[in-house]
Amino acid sequence: MNLESSVATIFDRIAVRGIWRKLLVFSLAATLIPSLTMGWLYYGSSRQLLEGRIAEELRRITDHSTLEVDLWLRSRSYELSAGAAELARQDAGDPEALAGALAEVSRRNPDQRALWILGPDGEELAGTSGEPLADRIPEHWLRPDYDGPLVGEPTRNAGDGTLTLMLAEPIEGEAGRTGLLVASMDFQVVQRVLAALASREGTELYLAYESGYVIATSGRPGDGARQLRLGPAAAEALFTGEALQHRFDGIRGTRVIGMVRPVTLAGWGVVAEREQAVAYADLDRLRWTAVVITAIMLAVVGAVAYMLSVMLVRPLARLTAGAEAVARGNFNVRLPVTSRNETGYLTRVFNDMVERLREAQDELAAKNRALQENNRRLHALSITDGLTGLFARKYLSEILVQEISRARRYGHELAVLMIDIDHFKAYNDTYGHPLGDEALVHVSEVFRECLRNSDYASRWGGEEFLLMLPESGPSEAVYTAERIRRRVAESTREALRKPVTVSIGVASFPEHGDDADAVIEAADEALYRAKHDGRNRVQLSNRNARPSIVRG
Ligand code: GH3
Ligand code: MG
Ligand code: MG
Repeated sequence: MNLESSVATIFDRIAVRGIWRKLLVFSLAATLIPSLTMGWLYYGSSRQLLEGRIAEELRRITDHSTLEVDLWLRSRSYELSAGAAELARQDAGDPEALAGALAEVSRRNPDQRALWILGPDGEELAGTSGEPLADRIPEHWLRPDYDGPLVGEPTRNAGDGTLTLMLAEPIEGEAGRTGLLVASMDFQVVQRVLAALASREGTELYLAYESGYVIATSGRPGDGARQLRLGPAAAEALFTGEALQHRFDGIRGTRVIGMVRPVTLAGWGVVAEREQAVAYADLDRLRWTAVVITAIMLAVVGAVAYMLSVMLVRPLARLTAGAEAVARGNFNVRLPVTSRNETGYLTRVFNDMVERLREAQDELAAKNRALQENNRRLHALSITDGLTGLFARKYLSEILVQEISRARRYGHELAVLMIDIDHFKAYNDTYGHPLGDEALVHVSEVFRECLRNSDYASRWGGEEFLLMLPESGPSEAVYTAERIRRRVAESTREALRKPVTVSIGVASFPEHGDDADAVIEAADEALYRAKHDGRNRVQLSNRNARPSIVRG
């Protein structure tokens, strides 16, 4: 697995999710808590402000309307009482004069659509419209002891749909009340006042009885034919409630905010209502804007948190993968330093550390190699004779033991040649020790030339040599020994000051001995015999039945 895929694995395994989750939770909380708190506070205060403003507007409109309606009523009552005073001076017994005076009063006051004069017992004395008044006024108005307001309930004419209001004034003669002047007033003018005052969008202004029935509204097309009504609960709340402002289902069936003011002279009141949806439209817009802004902020903060966690985690994952690689023995790791922050510093330190580890490892490897070379040399020295380069006696002794046991295991033969230079003391004495050494080196060279790769030659001591020929039987060994003897004699004739000869004792395993010592002993014996027999010759061990001499 390479470093990049390790980084990806570690990245995936440990870090990103954990750190990202923590960062995300923290950032979302850090964004949400203040924005929601501020939003909530701002929304609350905005709502309060808006409600205050709406209440103020509704109060202003209802106050104004009540004032206008009240003023209109008072003016009409005043006009009527002026008419009543005039009529009081007329002779009640003269119907024609009475009708004339009534027509005159009516002409001066255009709002009075019809006038009637009732006698003390309620009998109709005169009228302007020709229509009888009949029972269009409440009975208690006629009672002499009643001194409450004589204001009726506005009614809609069945014929033309126009609104009229019955008003009355007592006609007081010198001797007390002589009758009642009753007027049917044009109430349309009040409706126009309401329409003018309810100019603001979404606001509706109307007159309503306590029962909830609507008398007149600021108007919408088609209102004339329809009897609008406020819900009983809303009507009760509006007319009896202490608070001026309420939320209820309005006369159009929508949720509204409304306010009522009773008209002093009458048993009804002015109601102003505004559709809640319209009233709170700005607030709703504000709320949605806040929600959208918060959502965008959350998305941005989430993305930033993710990027931050990736920035934090990637170098960490790389460091972890690097450390794992180093732990596995890979010192060729070098991580990219991508930032100047703490992780960048850590990465640089990591790289330096790995670099030093690599140098130390290289140094160690070089030392190891030198040590191995020295060991090899030491070993070579320990198994080699310094002068001749042949194996040392100790080494060949060990090899011989191993080879004999191998030959025994596989049923093979093995032969040794014990070689001694003849009269070497004399040679040394004559030519000196250095030339004696030279002769030793030359003879060793001859041995090497005459042997196979698998044979061993060793300096057994002084001018004595032991050669070992694995896989060779006695006759083969004698043959080789003879060749060596001859080559020594021949080659030294020219190479040395004086020819040198050798005597050779040959013994073989298993024929002449069944272990290393026995075979060497047998070869030594044969060599002794070769010396005894005149030197420069080869003797095969006679430890077996047929000793034989092979002469060169
Ligand atoms: P023989 O034919 O009976 O073997 O007679 P020899 O003179 O060879 O026998 P001896 O054992 O009396 O003498 C061996 C001589 O070999 C004695 C010594 O001077 C010589 N010699 C032994 N080792 C070395 C060596 O390393 N260098 C030299 N130059 N001579 C050596
Ligand atoms: Mg000797
Ligand atoms: Mg000798």
